[in-house]
Amino acid sequence: MYPQLEEVHGLVRKTAKDFVERRVEPNARRIDQGWYPRELLREMGELGLLAPHAPPEYGGAGLDFRSMVIVVEEVAKASPALATITEVQGSMIVYNLMHYAGQELREKWLQPVARGEKIIAFALSEPCCGSDAFSLETKAERRGGSWVINGTKLWITSGIYADAFLVAARTGPPEEKHKTVTLFLVEKKKCVETTPVTVMGVRGTGTAEVKFHDCEVGEEAVVGGVNGGFKVVLDDLNNGRTCVGAIGLGIAQGAIKEAESYAKRRVAFGTAIINFQVIQQYIASVKAHIEAVRGVVYTAAYYRDKGSDLFPLYAQVAKYLGSRLAVDATRTAMQIMGGFGYSTDSKVEMLYRDAKATEIYEGANEVVLNTLFKLAEKYEA
Ligand SMILES: Cc1cc2nc3c(=O)[nH]c(=O)nc-3n(C[C@H](O)[C@H](O)[C@H](O)COP(=O)(O)OP(=O)(O)OC[C@H]3O[C@@H](n4cnc5c(N)ncnc54)[C@H](O)[C@@H]3O)c2cc1C
Repeated sequence: MYPQLEEVHGLVRKTAKDFVERRVEPNARRIDQGWYPRELLREMGELGLLAPHAPPEYGGAGLDFRSMVIVVEEVAKASPALATITEVQGSMIVYNLMHYAGQELREKWLQPVARGEKIIAFALSEPCCGSDAFSLETKAERRGGSWVINGTKLWITSGIYADAFLVAARTGPPEEKHKTVTLFLVEKKKCVETTPVTVMGVRGTGTAEVKFHDCEVGEEAVVGGVNGGFKVVLDDLNNGRTCVGAIGLGIAQGAIKEAESYAKRRVAFGTAIINFQVIQQYIASVKAHIEAVRGVVYTAAYYRDKGSDLFPLYAQVAKYLGSRLAVDATRTAMQIMGGFGYSTDSKVEMLYRDAKATEIYEGANEVVLNTLFKLAEKYEA
């Protein structure tokens, strides 16, 4: 048992592992080929795996953020794409609505979202601005008692399939940057135009460009208060970044397991290649890094559950080290597997492509390091 975890987390892992073996592994390639796993999200919702941290009245399992992280890790071992959708929907969107939405939105959306019956996408990034998100150009203007939203979002996970979007929009002078950004819940209607974006990895996540043409919403659609978007986004990104660390942790385990099993079967120069010390050292080195990153990811989630002010620091460390681990481990795993690892028949080939996304989404690693640099200064031992 890891010191950050409790008995209940063992049960969550067991349920998640069982679901992954039964439903995710057999469908992982299908997802990679572009199938959006809506029915798997629904099944995860039924099992309480989609938003385990949400209270039962909101459709969750009434557990905690560590449970969320464990589910994401287990799913990522088989399908980083499903893990990505899960963390956006289950962690970021559910957390956001629980903490920042008004009663009307909470009552309408939380249950179906936590149960995987409805999908909400998180729409922050734009063609102009990803890292510099608070330079965003999407506008929301007051007209009568409504808000009217116009603008274009890019790279939106679940964008093609979402029933609604949590949209960050400018609600004041652009010079005021983060002080004039508001979040709105916008339902998919005729005014929303979605176009698929082809990506190298995490395929099947419905990545999209999403355009809003004069989309009208009421005051109740505001999440986190007018001009309150910055705080909500930062708060939520820390959850997201911890989950990306967990995705990296899962990818690394999935890849090295595959490579180790291959190395036991593959014979060269009259012996299984696992008998070459260099192969053993490749595997041992990845396993050492897995254990180190595991400690960081679980500690971040533990700090989140305990309300520690160390959480933001650990969330950045989890994202940075978890994503680096994913890329390094999949590269090593592919090397161990030689030509077969490079073929599209190998699972490691998919994981290698998926891993790269973790260094980019939820804040590119350079931007994560900028935040980390500032936070780390505060906490020097
Ligand atoms: C598969 C995928 C899914 C995604 N899902 C979503 C989603 O659901 N919702 C959403 O809103 N967004 C999503 N994104 C967008 C993602 O968050 C952005 O791609 C990311 O924030 C980087 O922004 P950018 O692509 O505009 O790169 P840019 O901001 O143009 O950055 C380009 C390069 O410049 C570097 N750079 C920029 N500024 C600095 C700086 N100050 N210091 C040092 N280096 C810097 C970056 O680190 C990067 O290396 C997704 C992206 C991908 C690839």
